[in-house]
Amino acid sequence: MNLANGVPEGQLTGKTALVTAGASGIGRCIAETLLAAGVRVFVCDVDRAAVVRFLGDNPAASGAVVDVADAVAVEGMFRQIEREFGCLDILVNNAGIAGPTALVEDIETEAWDRTVAVDLNGQFYCTKYAVPMMKRAGSGAIVNISSNAAMFGFPYRSPYTASKWALIGLTKTWAMELGPHNIRVNALCPGSVKGPRIDGVIEREAASRGVPAAAVRDVYERQSSMRLFVSADDIAQMVLFLASPAGAAISGQSIAIDGHTESLSCDIH
Ligand code: NAD
Repeated sequence: MNLANGVPEGQLTGKTALVTAGASGIGRCIAETLLAAGVRVFVCDVDRAAVVRFLGDNPAASGAVVDVADAVAVEGMFRQIEREFGCLDILVNNAGIAGPTALVEDIETEAWDRTVAVDLNGQFYCTKYAVPMMKRAGSGAIVNISSNAAMFGFPYRSPYTASKWALIGLTKTWAMELGPHNIRVNALCPGSVKGPRIDGVIEREAASRGVPAAAVRDVYERQSSMRLFVSADDIAQMVLFLASPAGAAISGQSIAIDGHTESLSCDIH
């Protein structure tokens, strides 16, 4: 028997999944991991060129250009998934933007609204339309990609932190509502993930604080006991586990994938 992260080969074959913001970054890694496990995958992403690239590289996948903050577009996407797959077993609520990097008094209200619209409203919209399909199927697995910012205060990142904390509450609430329908809901709380997004966050924070980017990067690295940035694959493997029968008894949990972090202090020494 071949095993991928303890998941016996074939256990997810033929299952269906939606990965939001799945055309690049962590979402793309999750989508490709599920595809490799035999899952039929639909990705949505707001970036048209990234969707075209993803579908070109993964001809077995389906996809659409959708902004998860647009409730009407999300509803239309679920009609497309219904037509193409007829059912949905796995929802990975991955879409989320970093939002402004600024002290609370300097955050533009438009930037607050947009961050909450993508990071919180978008996850609600997708869950709202996924749940009836899962109830019909008699089972389902929802994985909300939160952040370890949802476990601490996180200076300079108010709307992001607020949205990611809200997702933890929703994970517990939805697990209670949906458990009787055999639908499991969990959240993953990554620390800083290697890649262009964290590079951008570090550069913006360094600029807003007037310090070198290397100093900010060092602070982010020292936030974890293991002094590391995690990889997208670390997250994708946990999604695979939670979506599979191996995770059948796990629901309502928020799992940190962050090399062990006890605080998101931003002190620069
Ligand atoms: P990213 O910034 O690399 O973006 C990935 C994709 O999201 C892009 O293709 C982008 O077009 C798409 N996207 C952005 N807004 C969208 C929208 N409104 N609708 C649909 N698609 C949209 O992000 P990432 O680093 O891959 O992060 C993915 C998730 O992981 C997010 O929820 C993020 O908050 C979370 N997270 C990331 C980190 C990190 O260090 N990168 C750490 C903790 C949590």
